[in-house]
Amino acid sequence: MSAHFALPGWKPGTGAGLARRGLMLVLSSPSGAGKTTLSRRLLAADSRITMSVSVTTRPPRPGEVEGKDYFFVDVPTFERMRNEGELLEHAVVFNNLYGTPRRAVEEALSQGRDVLFDIDWQGTQQLGESAQQDLVKVFLLPPSAADLEQRLRTRAQDSDEVVHQRMAKASDEISHYDEYDYILINREIDDSLAKLRSILEAERLKRRRLTGLSTFVKQLRDGL
Ligand code: 5GP
Repeated sequence: MSAHFALPGWKPGTGAGLARRGLMLVLSSPSGAGKTTLSRRLLAADSRITMSVSVTTRPPRPGEVEGKDYFFVDVPTFERMRNEGELLEHAVVFNNLYGTPRRAVEEALSQGRDVLFDIDWQGTQQLGESAQQDLVKVFLLPPSAADLEQRLRTRAQDSDEVVHQRMAKASDEISHYDEYDYILINREIDDSLAKLRSILEAERLKRRRLTGLSTFVKQLRDGL
């Protein structure tokens, strides 16, 4: 019998030797479509997925916590990380630099844990170049332009100028919807969360993500 190395996500008794490599769930959307709320709800509901915490040169917003929302760094530090290959992907968004630290993601995946990314289309494209097999790409759309504008305006944290910038950028971001596997229209957060969880559960069951499956099936058949 093969060694038992069932990973988180596999309940005991579902087959010794069966394991699964973690997947990378990317959630992209224009600012204001509800991505941060949806991410938080997913993380609270599912202990098998962890957030990739990005580095950014953007200053922290009120209430943001170092190491939880972002790692806030200066430009020279960001550039050093990028030049030394410490970032899995990186992009300029709203004149600030953003990037995904490589090590935390690779560790999580190799331990069979799933990783959630709140990154833009540029970063998603880059992840696709290096990790196509592990990637599940979800794009969140607002139900209407008016709804998006409303949500951006009621965000107390951003100045008028920033709101305008984000509105202009939203159209550009939305134009990349066709590079994603799944589209969620965020009419109601509980409904979006339920759909996102269904996507995640189905993706976890993809045959190509499983290792040890042929041994498991052989054992099953031998017992028949
Ligand atoms: P915010 O400044 O509002 O937190 O994020 C602005 C945009 O940058 C969002 O669309 C967010 O998804 C994106 N973003 C955050 N972190 C990263 C990252 O590490 N890489 C990339 N490519 N985009 C990111």
